[in-house]
Amino acid sequence: MKSLITYGHGQVEIIESAELALLPDEVLVAPIATGLCGTDLEIIDGKIDLSFVNYPIVLGHEWCGRVIKVGPNVNWIEEGVRVVVEGIIPCGTCFECVDGNTNRCTTYDEVGFTRPGAAAGQIAVRADLVHPIADSVTDESAALVEPTAVVTQGLMKAQPNKGAKVLIIGDGTIALIAAKLIRTWQPSEVHMLGLKEGQSLLAEQAGVDLFMINPSSEKYDLIIDASGASSRISEAIRQLVRGGCLLLLGFTGPDISTPISIDDLVNGDLSIFASFGYSRNAWEKTVELLNSGKVDLTFLVTHRFPLESYHEAIDALRHAPSPRGKILFEIGK
Ligand SMILES: [Zn+2]
Ligand SMILES: [Zn+2]
Repeated sequence: MKSLITYGHGQVEIIESAELALLPDEVLVAPIATGLCGTDLEIIDGKIDLSFVNYPIVLGHEWCGRVIKVGPNVNWIEEGVRVVVEGIIPCGTCFECVDGNTNRCTTYDEVGFTRPGAAAGQIAVRADLVHPIADSVTDESAALVEPTAVVTQGLMKAQPNKGAKVLIIGDGTIALIAAKLIRTWQPSEVHMLGLKEGQSLLAEQAGVDLFMINPSSEKYDLIIDASGASSRISEAIRQLVRGGCLLLLGFTGPDISTPISIDDLVNGDLSIFASFGYSRNAWEKTVELLNSGKVDLTFLVTHRFPLESYHEAIDALRHAPSPRGKILFEIGK
């Protein structure tokens, strides 16, 4: 089978390897569609904290696939079922896992970071992390469960009120998913402060009521940052109503700090939430939103490539003009 592997330092290649061996509690899955995201670029370029990556690493942490083999201890799922698989692998026994905070498991282990990802012909996964996907869900939506679960996790933490006026900062995949997902919390209005005018069409498809490039002076109940643009985060504090909430989903970079007015925070009775990855609970909720037909993310995929065209895919991720949504490898179509 083929695997797309990176060594860091910008170096990527396809390697040929033997069929994977299966542990008794695992299933073997053939990826159907695997996304490539900004984090993959950071892995490729060696810009990720080394405690979060084991090089060389097979890329691919946003994906869906089909079960092709079931380990002898697994009796609840059959070959042929289309699935998504939690990428953050909880140990199940540490205090965080026991409390349900599997995103904070004290032993960090994640598909596509510390263990081989799904930009490959096959991937072996622990069966208890596998979730079947309904026939009505497109491959595109299913492949986006991982970044969507990241947004779900943040929203579960921020608990937006019904009728909230929401601003999303950023216009990339996470921002667009946030725009789509926040609708299930029934906001009154959703605005997006984007970086590129060309993303406005995707924002419209995501259900954004107002797309802008320059900040306005409007006030919001909830501001979600999916840009990691530190100056905009400082400004955002001033655009919150009293009692408002800022949810941080984007990374600004390891050495970036941002001035924030503490008086504005205290006087405004404001809350700031930051959210890492997704818990099992957030993953399950995300799968349920897709399987029930409440959320469809097919519109987000704008670029598709066979795995062999990884150079073109990486190039599109770095340079493709807007509108640019999710870039997918179609592997087992
Ligand atoms: Zn990603
Ligand atoms: Zn744990």
